[in-house]
Amino acid sequence: MKITEPSHNSTHNALRQVAVEQKKWNLHGFSISGLSTYFQIPELDLCVDMGECPMSALSLNHVLLTHSHGDHSRCLMRHNSLRRMMQNPIQAVYYIPEAVYELAVDLIRAETMFEGVSEERFELPRLESVKPGERFNLEYRKDLEIFPFNVKHSIPALGYTVFYKKKKLKKEYISCETEEIIRLKKSGVEITNDVREPVVSFMGDCLGESLWEERHIWDSPVVVCECTFLEKDEIAMARKKGHTHIEHLAQILSKVGGNMACQCIVLTHFSMKYSKKQILDLVYKIIPGEFKERVKVFL
Ligand SMILES: [Zn+2]
Ligand SMILES: [Zn+2]
Repeated sequence: MKITEPSHNSTHNALRQVAVEQKKWNLHGFSISGLSTYFQIPELDLCVDMGECPMSALSLNHVLLTHSHGDHSRCLMRHNSLRRMMQNPIQAVYYIPEAVYELAVDLIRAETMFEGVSEERFELPRLESVKPGERFNLEYRKDLEIFPFNVKHSIPALGYTVFYKKKKLKKEYISCETEEIIRLKKSGVEITNDVREPVVSFMGDCLGESLWEERHIWDSPVVVCECTFLEKDEIAMARKKGHTHIEHLAQILSKVGGNMACQCIVLTHFSMKYSKKQILDLVYKIIPGEFKERVKVFL
């Protein structure tokens, strides 16, 4: 008897990850609408959404949840329970949109009881409620700041921009010699300013118009956005379901213009009815010429 891999393993297999490589970090994960969406950036100790929880996510200590649809949230607590099983001494932190925070607590409790844990032994994992517009630092990466913002979807949903926080020498001290800088620093003079450098923006699930209303995202060198619908006759469907249609994305890119800082646009969350070939053909047909090289299809 021979053991082989069935051919269907290669199509929309949520545990088969893809990677987009950047200079300083890599984005790994999977994203097909309705099936599963999860992203991991190991270098930033960060996951965004947890529609599946592959082993590669277990060492990462921060999870940002965009919204509570099952294909994005289903394995949130699997992440926690597998880490506990492996006796990871660090408590991962789960950042939950405030709109669903209480529901998340109820769900986690119910899920734990369902697995046979008694009320006395139940321990809530480390959850943080996230308010749109309120920046926060990642618990174990104080050099990273997160800016959460509202996006329009069929239920409350957030997008996130990740920033590096850096200290930059104030203009007036730039021409000073090193010894002088050291002397000033020792005497307690504040010689630096805090600066934020955008790293990546995640849109989660949203209508195309959020890509314009939240156009600060285009200041990030990398934008990860959904692009669920691609066919010409699906524009109304995209609106009805709260998703982005590629025609809308193409219009917004033209409006923002080629001078934007964003050099890499990662398209995710395609409807599962399309084949890989259909997706590639339609995306590169519709995206305006000057953006074609920046667009990466997350497949
Ligand atoms: Zn989704
Ligand atoms: Zn959704």
